[in-house]
Amino acid sequence: MSIETINAAIRDVVDFPKKGIIFKDITPVLKSEKLFHEVVDIIAARYEKNRPDSFAAIESRGFIFGSALAYKLNCGFIPVRKKGKLPYKTIEESYSLEYGTATLEVHEDAVRAGEKVVVIDDLLATGGTAGASVRLIERLGGKIAGLEFVIELGFLKGRANLSKYNINSIILVD
Ligand code: AMP
Repeated sequence: MSIETINAAIRDVVDFPKKGIIFKDITPVLKSEKLFHEVVDIIAARYEKNRPDSFAAIESRGFIFGSALAYKLNCGFIPVRKKGKLPYKTIEESYSLEYGTATLEVHEDAVRAGEKVVVIDDLLATGGTAGASVRLIERLGGKIAGLEFVIELGFLKGRANLSKYNINSIILVD
């Protein structure tokens, strides 16, 4: 199974959720038992010898890959959620969107001091979402062991805002 096969399964949906956006739809990758497995295995292989304590997964598509990785590598799972979804006491970080801001939260006891955490999401675009997630983990004393994405929109240069971290993506869209 090659990276090209995974790439071919990602569906471009034009003008979703709004005009001018090409939405990278990963549902065909998830539907294929081979490709879903392959994506999880590629990311897991990077951490097999140096397992993190937890995967912090970004709502909502990050949850899909993050939970599979946490299970496969026997790590914990930390949900990074949109504001207002988590039931217990939270800390929050906001980041800029094209219009306005968005806010992410984690539970205030989600990370132990010194815990090694890998942040995971389906896609890196401008890096705002991942940046806010990293700040949340670090505020709780976590150490970022890596940032993992299935797809990276290279032309948006999100990586530049996160340059001090180890960032990996499987599919790079130039
Ligand atoms: P950003 O904060 O700009 O890096 O945006 C990343 C977040 O928005 C991720 O949670 C993605 O799931 C989502 N996202 C941004 N652009 C796209 C896109 N073209 N296709 C699918 N998801 C996207």
